[in-house]
Amino acid sequence: MATAEAPAAAGGAQIIDGKMTAELIRKEIAVEASAIKSKYGKSPGLAVVLVGSRGDSATYVRSKKKACADVGIESFGTELPEDVTEEELLKVVQEYNENDAVHGILVQLPLPKHINEQRILDAISLEKDVDGFHPFNIGSLAMRGRQPLYTSCTPKGCLELLKRYSVPISGKRAVVLGRSNIVGMPVAHLLQGEDATVTVVHSKTKDAREICAEADILIAAIGKAEMVKADWVKPGAAVIDVGTNPIPDESKKSGYRLVGDVAFKEVREKAGYITPVPGGVGPMTIAMLLQNCTEGAKRVLEKAASAPAS
Ligand code: NAP
Repeated sequence: MATAEAPAAAGGAQIIDGKMTAELIRKEIAVEASAIKSKYGKSPGLAVVLVGSRGDSATYVRSKKKACADVGIESFGTELPEDVTEEELLKVVQEYNENDAVHGILVQLPLPKHINEQRILDAISLEKDVDGFHPFNIGSLAMRGRQPLYTSCTPKGCLELLKRYSVPISGKRAVVLGRSNIVGMPVAHLLQGEDATVTVVHSKTKDAREICAEADILIAAIGKAEMVKADWVKPGAAVIDVGTNPIPDESKKSGYRLVGDVAFKEVREKAGYITPVPGGVGPMTIAMLLQNCTEGAKRVLEKAASAPAS
């Protein structure tokens, strides 16, 4: 595993460079995808299903397709109208479940309100659940002695950043701000799996600031622009900022810019490590998706190759 190195900020935290780390990982995936193709004659395949015409979702889907092409993953895609029925969408998922060229299936969220998101996610074959949202994969993550087939991409990206920057986790006090199914909850399980002592802080927690200020590792995933100030942070702590919050900025053509859940400027003076927004956790999410898809393809193709001929 290549280790990322970035210069320490003058008089402050070492910046954990997610963009550079994600690029390193993509190069590793390209090597792996090419080895899979040489050995089994097949490339890993990722299917992305997009429902409706949300601009942000279409942008994510485009960047996922491009990322696949860059590393040698074959991409498949289905675009469905906003008023598609649940049964029609289930049929598309089912077809990808049965397609041997597809090793990972991703249904871009959020889905329109008339569709039961949980029913769609549950329909994705466990072996192809590259987003790691299937209850079996989440349940396995929470249980000792079990290994999920896939771990959700953003939480996995947070852990990968800590590891690649050699941040000690075992025996450390970790605090996760936020308990959503897609970030806070799985990241807390991953940290516990690495033997950290984990506290989860949510909107009903009393004394959130004091609890966070005891953390050696602080993961912020609440979606509140720059809420975590310097007095929430223990000196020398590793701070991973998952938040992506648009705030008005007239100097930008778009009229806004993205900031994290952490007040970066003041916290970097106190922390030992910190991820920027943008350029921290964000680029890692797609890198982990590509990694999950490649690992899934390898698992399936290895199994097929070692099965006795009938
Ligand atoms: P979410 O589903 O809205 O969950 C937010 C969590 O934060 C909830 O558990 C909520 O507590 C907690 N919370 C809200 N206000 C709080 C407060 N004042 N004090 C303590 N806890 C509070 O959000 P999410 O989907 O996890 O996303 C969180 C952030 O990460 C967002 O900015 C999102 O855009 C970003 N994100 C980034 C990536 C990436 O790739 N970089 C991926 C996913 C998400 P309750 O449970 O009590 O309501």
